[in-house]
Amino acid sequence: MPDKDIIPGIHNWCDRWCEKCSFIARCAVGVQELDLIEEEQKGNKPDFWEGINEQFTKSIQLIDELAKEKGIDLDDIPDEEWDKINKEREEKELEGENHPISKLAGKYPQDCQNILNDNFVKGKFDSEIQKLELELEKEAKTKIKELKEAVDIIRWYMFFIPAKSKRLMMENLDTEFEDAEFPPEERSYNGTAKITLIAIERSISSWGLLLQTYPEHQDEVLSVLALLQKLQKMIHTEFPDALSFIRPGFDE
Ligand code: SF4
Repeated sequence: MPDKDIIPGIHNWCDRWCEKCSFIARCAVGVQELDLIEEEQKGNKPDFWEGINEQFTKSIQLIDELAKEKGIDLDDIPDEEWDKINKEREEKELEGENHPISKLAGKYPQDCQNILNDNFVKGKFDSEIQKLELELEKEAKTKIKELKEAVDIIRWYMFFIPAKSKRLMMENLDTEFEDAEFPPEERSYNGTAKITLIAIERSISSWGLLLQTYPEHQDEVLSVLALLQKLQKMIHTEFPDALSFIRPGFDE
């Protein structure tokens, strides 16, 4: 894929589910992922990390040589400066973590796991698969496929939602520059809010399918849905322009 076909920055506001992404061939991150997928399909398992490590060592050597040539001491950062940088980073992280949006999102994976790991989902799937194997129900095939996709979606976004929510609240602490320089549809924090909202919406749809299929488990599912809806509302309130953000590739 020629470089001109790559969409700059597309990977900054996506859900990182490259396998399912229609822009995989037009994204700098996706293209590497695609190579790995193709190699795996051919039965080759390239040692990806070995390649990266080699490149890292080469890069460090090159940087050291260049710095020496130019008389720059790369380690010359006074301890007080490091302490200041670390302190500011820790404070910002704590502030981001303590925001009600981060706290609520942080509860979500545990609630999900409580449901996904108990007999409700696993037991149901086993019995559906059994029916399928026995070919007692022709419709079971479509149903199990839909349910499997719904559970895949829930699992994919289960940790993505809290991670993005925390990043969002940290980005929100530094909005002055972006607010002054860019319109709402170009502010990075709105992009993060938008992809978080998309992940929440897709998770709500998937939980909705489980609710529809297994109404006898409505209490557990409803509590997770209530959490997601509350989170959705809080993000919309805190970032009213989130949906106006134009994600490169996806929204153009
Ligand atoms: S834009 Fe698509 S291909 Fe690129 S990192 Fe995101 S999900 Fe993966």
